[in-house]
Amino acid sequence: MCARHEACKGNRMVRAVVGANWGDEGKGKITDMLGETSDIIVRFQGGSNAGHTIINDYGKFALHILPSGVFYNHTTSIIGNGVAFSVPALMDEINELVKRGVPKPKILVSDRAQIVMPYHILFDQCEEERLGKKSFGSTKSGIAPFYSDKYSKIGFQVSELFAEETVLREHVERVCEQKNVILEHMYQKERINPEEIMKTLAEYREMVAPYVCDTAAFLQQAVKEGKTILLEGQLGTLKDPDFGIYPMVTSSSTLAAYGAIGAGIPPYEIKDIIAVVKAYSSAVGAGAFVSELFGEEADELRNRGGDGGEFGATTGRPRRVGWLDTVASRYGVRMQSATEVALTVLDVLGYLDEIPVCTAYEIDGEITKDFPVTTKLNKAKPVLTTLPGWKCDIRGIKKYEDLPENCRNYIEFVEKEIGVKITMISNGPGRHDIIYR
Ligand code: GDP
Repeated sequence: MCARHEACKGNRMVRAVVGANWGDEGKGKITDMLGETSDIIVRFQGGSNAGHTIINDYGKFALHILPSGVFYNHTTSIIGNGVAFSVPALMDEINELVKRGVPKPKILVSDRAQIVMPYHILFDQCEEERLGKKSFGSTKSGIAPFYSDKYSKIGFQVSELFAEETVLREHVERVCEQKNVILEHMYQKERINPEEIMKTLAEYREMVAPYVCDTAAFLQQAVKEGKTILLEGQLGTLKDPDFGIYPMVTSSSTLAAYGAIGAGIPPYEIKDIIAVVKAYSSAVGAGAFVSELFGEEADELRNRGGDGGEFGATTGRPRRVGWLDTVASRYGVRMQSATEVALTVLDVLGYLDEIPVCTAYEIDGEITKDFPVTTKLNKAKPVLTTLPGWKCDIRGIKKYEDLPENCRNYIEFVEKEIGVKITMISNGPGRHDIIYR
């Protein structure tokens, strides 16, 4: 518990924990930590395509769909309407937690959340296969086909599971007709059967029934009652469909502002926006990555990174790694409208004699500190500033003043470059590895 945060001091509010980079910044750890002083934790976008790794008193967990606050007895965890909701993924995660001794969490699922259908996963696989080398590097969890259907208005809301069977059947048959044309003629795959979809949906209904409610109404009431609500984002600014590295982005907004929509709470209630910035860069999937490292330097950072190396929590695939990019991070923090920054995984850099930071881009011979649109970003070369390393292990340190001078200099340099106060420094993967500033 800290004395610095308004919410921690007992002032009730809505706050958001979001990523300023490409994702995998350590949001899960920060959410898990802030869960202690929250009443409700909400996932408001994305699906089970990315994972949060959490290490706490119960062990090490990779959560994909559940909010990272499920480890406390006093919190309610919400799957908001903005989420790509995989029913089997939710069930698997709840079962896994209970099996490993975590008390069964209190979970609510929005009746307006839409369901990831088995054919969304199939279409994701077919399309990535078709694109071959030009693929997006999707985790093939069906997220892009899911959101395409949502905005094409052929998705399935949780509430429809509880409608009359004839209504649901009509919708299923209509969708199958369209999907089968594409499956047969574009991908040369077997047709999907409406009866099977009906059977799957009946199973889903059984599974979700205990959790479904009007979560927007629940949250609005909670705001009135002065509860502390934590919105948990997935991925980061640079994967936002509008402000990220389009088209190598995800399919739902990763910005704190979207929290209001994806959860159904008043936008003006979000008072504290904690953008998580990682002390170096990592990214999954394809797309421009200006400060990327290759070869031995990359392997060393990747192997030392995060908790047990930079490998995807969902897929296990190696993440791309690079030096901290303050051009991207400053933009990332600004587009999140961050009120404060948590700088994570700083302990990992303790092995370096010198630490390069990408502080500007060179594009067509011009130097800029402004993060550009994708067509220009693809031409950007990194301009590096090198800082001295601190050459020691900083894990276990609890006070800012006790950090080595070069480490404090790195933090203060980064803060100046990104332009928002760094209030928390994470120096280890555990819940209590945190320095408040
Ligand atoms: P998220 O999706 O933003 O929650 O991030 P991930 O969970 O995918 O990746 C972050 C990784 O870094 C996880 O393995 C965390 O356990 C780990 N991690 C988080 N904070 C720290 C830290 O301060 N130091 C170290 N060494 N690892 C951290």
